[in-house]
Amino acid sequence: MDRTPYLAVAIDTPLRQVFDYRAPEGAAVGAGFRVWVPFGRRRVVGVVVEGIDQTEVPANKLRAAFEAIDAEPTLDPGLLSLLTWAAEYYRHPVGEVLTSALPVLLRNGAPVREEKFLWRLTELGREKALATLPARSVRLRAIAQYLTKQEQAPASEILSATESPSSALRNLEARGFVEEFAREKTDIVPPVSIVRAGPPLNEAQTAAVERIRNTLDFFASHLLYGVTGSGKTEVYLHVIEAVLARGQQVLVLVPEIALTPQLISRFRARFDAPLAVLHSGLNDTERLAAWRDAREGTARIVIGTRSAIFTPLLHPGLIIIDEEHDASFKQQDGFRYSARDLSLVRAQRLGIPVVLGSATPSLETLARARKQPETLSLLSQRAGSARPPQLALVDLRKHGATQGIATPTVMTIRRHLDAGGQVMLFINRRGYAPVLFCPNCGWSAHCRRCDAHLTVHARGRDLICHHCGSQEPMPPGCSNCFADVKPVGQGTERIEEALQQLFPGAPMARIDRDSMRRKGELEETLARVNRGEIRILVGTQMLTKGHDFPQVTLVVVLNADQGLFSTDFRASERLAQTIVQVAGRAGRADRPGEVLIQTEYPEHPLLTLLLTGGYAAFADGALTEREQSGWPPFARIALLRAEATDQDAPLKFLQDAHDLAVDFPVRGVQLLGPAPAPMERRAGRFRAQLMIRAPSHSPLQKFLSGWLPILAMLPEARRVRWSIDVDAAELS
Ligand code: ADP
Ligand code: ZN
Ligand code: ZN
Repeated sequence: MDRTPYLAVAIDTPLRQVFDYRAPEGAAVGAGFRVWVPFGRRRVVGVVVEGIDQTEVPANKLRAAFEAIDAEPTLDPGLLSLLTWAAEYYRHPVGEVLTSALPVLLRNGAPVREEKFLWRLTELGREKALATLPARSVRLRAIAQYLTKQEQAPASEILSATESPSSALRNLEARGFVEEFAREKTDIVPPVSIVRAGPPLNEAQTAAVERIRNTLDFFASHLLYGVTGSGKTEVYLHVIEAVLARGQQVLVLVPEIALTPQLISRFRARFDAPLAVLHSGLNDTERLAAWRDAREGTARIVIGTRSAIFTPLLHPGLIIIDEEHDASFKQQDGFRYSARDLSLVRAQRLGIPVVLGSATPSLETLARARKQPETLSLLSQRAGSARPPQLALVDLRKHGATQGIATPTVMTIRRHLDAGGQVMLFINRRGYAPVLFCPNCGWSAHCRRCDAHLTVHARGRDLICHHCGSQEPMPPGCSNCFADVKPVGQGTERIEEALQQLFPGAPMARIDRDSMRRKGELEETLARVNRGEIRILVGTQMLTKGHDFPQVTLVVVLNADQGLFSTDFRASERLAQTIVQVAGRAGRADRPGEVLIQTEYPEHPLLTLLLTGGYAAFADGALTEREQSGWPPFARIALLRAEATDQDAPLKFLQDAHDLAVDFPVRGVQLLGPAPAPMERRAGRFRAQLMIRAPSHSPLQKFLSGWLPILAMLPEARRVRWSIDVDAAELS
């Protein structure tokens, strides 16, 4: 590496710039290295973006970096350039982007390689250290305590946990209290072999595997579009096998690890290859270990959620995005990136294929596949002997209902239970009831901090706001006229209660964020469902994500109507995806499935399209509509959001921002708004937004690069919190 006199360093601050430093003494340091640098009065970890020969910082202001943390770069050039590209594309401060891609321990200065030596207490240390060290030797005692608890640990961990300098450890060593020893060698990576063969592939699966395998040497973006149960996972497994055989690694992104235990156990069952799973339950040490395994090539398959897209890989061979339509791939705050979109950028830079899999692909992905039909693999039949479910609508206007469950639905549930089937009911709302209402005066319970109703929870004991988390006890009566109040509408808790009355003998389970708080609870419930111990299952979105319920023969969508008339142009897409995803949970084995969708709008085109032509027909219609009205994927959008405790400030700021735009004319770029957010007040803050729409990516970026830097100088900017969301997915 060339030694440059200066370094451009990214530091974890909201400032949109890099900081120049003099390179430290000693070995050459360059792009991707982490360095300790002085920043204000602090000593912080920075990531070198590049080595530079010149700086505009005057010599008397220029400070020197203290030292490099490692003898090698932490981020390889490919990952570093992906991250700086993403910072630019999503208009987010580069320091925050680079540090958010690193495990916490690395952000705090732990070495990038696992330390070869560990520390432990000696026999003398165990007996005497805590007994004899004086109370004022705070650090020494802290280290002794830490080692009593941990038994052994690398120096970096001990020093960061006890906030001690390395001299403290040496001091204890000189007293004979601690000793350093070599870590035992970890096992040699076992060769990858297939433990268990899967079922023979059907024709469509074989074609898909072939098509993807033929592109292992270059970039291609594949869409694996297969109805639920069509054997997409089986296709992944076969392609992964080919990639592993080439000595390469596979990165698999899934919406939520906790919701996909089945997927992971299938991977483990199939391959005798080291797997790194990056999930939110890992502690910092485990997360760093998984990250290192990926970076050093030890982990051959890396599975994780959104942020795993930034995992370093020594021999990357393939990226898979499972359930690519899922909203969780887009981060909704801070660095608002889309892991799905970045997977394409990363794969393209690496020259490897990416496979996007879904039963309900996003319209963006479908539109791309239409332009490149050679990358589209369709699995239109269910694998094995399973047949597609029968969909039917239940008109809520025509039939009486018990707590939101219509009479024909009740009869169908009974029929399935009598035939020995399992029944699953889906409702997009947790809690007991979404509204607490006074029939006497019309009052209803609202959150004090949000423009929203409070949801009744725990069979009517608590009121909780689903937007800010505020909680209040249930009032004894109407706050306005003191009359008796009543919960109106249904959530999962109330549906469960109604079902217990309707089907007293049937064992039930409820799956939502409230009932699945405890660790392992979801897995346990799913196992009970699979063993047939549960006959009726009620749940929210959590049910739609990838579970395989082979015994379920009836799926009921209790209310399809939220989302039919939203102002968000993506609402109908999300609704169609949800309906098709839940419907797909039914009848996966040899029993045919039935799906009932309850609605007050049975003639709504979205529902009739879904019923007659499935998701494909809906998507065709929706794409035509988006094209005619100029929404993505036929345009690009960004959302400038602002919020403040004062109601007028956000709109004023956005109006000023809007007026500034005339100074940055870019052909085709259009500003829509400003307008208050659909829910204007949330958690005590008023929110407003301004949309920027452009015919494609480059005019949008051109406009933003001129316009955004000026916004910070607007006088109103100091009175609001503002942010930009490029390729915004949620318009609220
Ligand atoms: P998807 O990921 O599309 O939902 P899966 O790969 O999970 O589908 O397959 C659904 C079910 O069908 C699984 O139980 C799987 O083992 C089985 N399956 C997949 N492919 C085949 C095949 N070719 N022959 C028989 N069964 C299959
Ligand atoms: Zn009242
Ligand atoms: Zn609230």
